[in-house]
Amino acid sequence: MKKILIGSLALAAATTVFADYPDKPVTIVVPFAAGGPTDKVARDLADVLRKPLGGQSVIIENVGGAGGTLGAGRVAKASPDGYTLLLHHIGMATAPALYRNLPYKTLDDFEYLGMINEVPMTLIGKPSLPAANYADLHKWLAANQGKVNLAHAGLGSASHLCGLLLQSALKMEMTTVPYKGTGPAMTDLLGGQVDLMCDQTTNTSGQIESGKVKAYAVTTTKRLSAPLLAKLPTLDEAGLKGFNVTIWHALYAPKGTPKPVLDKINAALKVALKDAEFIKREEALGAVIVTDNRVGGAEHKKFVESEINKWGPVIKAAGQYAD
Ligand code: ASP
Repeated sequence: MKKILIGSLALAAATTVFADYPDKPVTIVVPFAAGGPTDKVARDLADVLRKPLGGQSVIIENVGGAGGTLGAGRVAKASPDGYTLLLHHIGMATAPALYRNLPYKTLDDFEYLGMINEVPMTLIGKPSLPAANYADLHKWLAANQGKVNLAHAGLGSASHLCGLLLQSALKMEMTTVPYKGTGPAMTDLLGGQVDLMCDQTTNTSGQIESGKVKAYAVTTTKRLSAPLLAKLPTLDEAGLKGFNVTIWHALYAPKGTPKPVLDKINAALKVALKDAEFIKREEALGAVIVTDNRVGGAEHKKFVESEINKWGPVIKAAGQYAD
């Protein structure tokens, strides 16, 4: 009897605590450096999450390194109280095949809060690269075998995945240069320290528009509709048959975060993703906001599982992994 009473008192106290959630700022960990596309969507989302989270500040913490696995590992071990969240991309699904030892269990160590967006990628080159279009680039690559550098955001990152598939499709090896995110990688590409990069349109559109980088192709099987990007061929149409990579971003909490807290965050995410200004900003950069039932824990987790199953064999066939 006494035990039951203590149990229900504890439950009542806990429910009251959750009823106040959030009563202090919420941190979203971005597992890449500031200035890149994951950082950008996180900062845009933080702006529109504030209101549905009762006006609390949403702070971004960049924990870049090891292709996003350091930041994801940090959130897996954070207190499961709803105050530390993770915004990550397709790397959640590609890292299990790329790393022999991950500092977390992708499907067991997180609560799945919902998907955010889907973003195509673009293959871009340094401004001085002497190739005006994809056909020229292909010739230049063939003539410079063994000398070409490709920037990426670490093993397991989206840019790494795209670069890996590119080298495998072209049957050419490039020297890959890892950064803590494609924000700093873009700085070096603009400065000519690296030759090529494959990155989300949300990071490349501005540089393509201002003519600061060479743009060669998109990674989707259909051309993009945004006027700025519509002129770019798909890699598939340029000869790399079947090349198809689309990046997605999603939100996670540490495993064990109480259900009432998860429900509040998910409800806030649903409101945030309907914000007209947010949608406009994302779409202008080539991203598509997710509106289906993957903006919900169960379907989000199912989707990540399907992506793990989709990419695992592809990555293994391309023959790369890290410890
Ligand atoms: N776009 C990067 C990647 O290649 C990461 C970043 O957002 O900086 O995974």
